[in-house]
Amino acid sequence: MVLGKQSIPFAFRAAFACTMAVLTLISSSRSLAGVLAESDIGISSAKDHDRVEIRLGESAVVRVVDEVAEYKRFFIDLYSTEPGFPDRVIPLRNGILRGLQTIAYPDSKVLRIIFHTTGSVPFRVADAETAVPFPATSVSDTGFARLRPTSRHLVVDVSRGGYPLPDLKPVGLRPLRPGGGAKRLVILDPGHGGADPGAKSIVTFGGRKLEEKDVVLSVAREVYRLLNKSPVVTAVMTRDDDREMSLEDRVAFAEKTDGDLFVSIHANSTKYHGRRDARGIEFYYLGETSDPALRQLEMAENLVDRSSLNKSESEHWDLIWKNMVKDNLDMQRPYGLQVANLVNEVFTQDVYFKSYNRGVKSARFRVLMNPVMPSVLVEIGYLDHPREVRNLAQPAFQQRIAKLIANGILEYFSQLDSELEFYQYEMN
Ligand SMILES: [Zn+2]
Repeated sequence: MVLGKQSIPFAFRAAFACTMAVLTLISSSRSLAGVLAESDIGISSAKDHDRVEIRLGESAVVRVVDEVAEYKRFFIDLYSTEPGFPDRVIPLRNGILRGLQTIAYPDSKVLRIIFHTTGSVPFRVADAETAVPFPATSVSDTGFARLRPTSRHLVVDVSRGGYPLPDLKPVGLRPLRPGGGAKRLVILDPGHGGADPGAKSIVTFGGRKLEEKDVVLSVAREVYRLLNKSPVVTAVMTRDDDREMSLEDRVAFAEKTDGDLFVSIHANSTKYHGRRDARGIEFYYLGETSDPALRQLEMAENLVDRSSLNKSESEHWDLIWKNMVKDNLDMQRPYGLQVANLVNEVFTQDVYFKSYNRGVKSARFRVLMNPVMPSVLVEIGYLDHPREVRNLAQPAFQQRIAKLIANGILEYFSQLDSELEFYQYEMN
């Protein structure tokens, strides 16, 4: 079953339609909009408690919408407000909030701030000066009656400990740093391992066929080495030896490690995907399968999961996919695409990969389905292409791929975080 738009729950579509109706109504009634800077949003945490403060413009009007029970999120629409920054996803660690997401509707001068929670936790949005909470509406309730009058300063509390609230020390507005840490954390995931070799070469090297699990491990190790040289990046690996690891374990590792980016490294075979003479690099982010021919590759990369073999394969993936769509996917997917595009861009500066570039695609790889951070999968080349495999077998070529991947990751981080210096490696 291919899941298309029709699989989005009806309630969600209805909600979206209502929301757009409100946005349109409001836009015609107001023209002046205040600009919200990133430094107007601050966050602080205590045990079982997260607090977000938002400093608003004079003309801002607030609407709070509760979707926690359904989608583990609530959001605030700020009318007459424009952001001074692009739409972003801000993962948060160690708290009850999993992350913030901002979406601007410039035509309506509305800024939506979505608060993704870890579960059904109570939240409260209050005016900081009067401490009067804003009633939350459900998304299907529309109309001006639900909008609150102007406030200058909002306090959003999410508390597992319940209310009354613990006394959080006033921290003032501490500007957000996406990811919340001084260092960026990357999880590198060399595919396959142990009894699962992945794709194999046809030609032999020293009497042995080249196996995907070995090539991607050596590339990942080099990316790891390069990234850890940067003072502002930490890299970790899901496996750093020849070990079998289920896809579930890789995803669990990602969730537990709670990084800023997950990069899975694989090598391809025309058996799974592509014409007989296919070669070159390919980048994937999590999404609907962009090409029916990719189903074969999806299955090949997803099949490793032994635990799913007692169920119908497609049923298993469809179920996970549905849950992902419901809960989290909308939060991470745009970032996965952004990373894939940036890494691809770096690769196109290389003479070989400029010629042999198969571009950015989306597919439903199980290993990318973690809700915590953006994820990409790189297929570094075709092990059954007679010329390309000779390159892939060479340590120097593997190091070149690793350097390009590292530079792509550093480029992504530097775009996220202009305050930190992410030096890239020179290509030779
Ligand atoms: Zn693979």
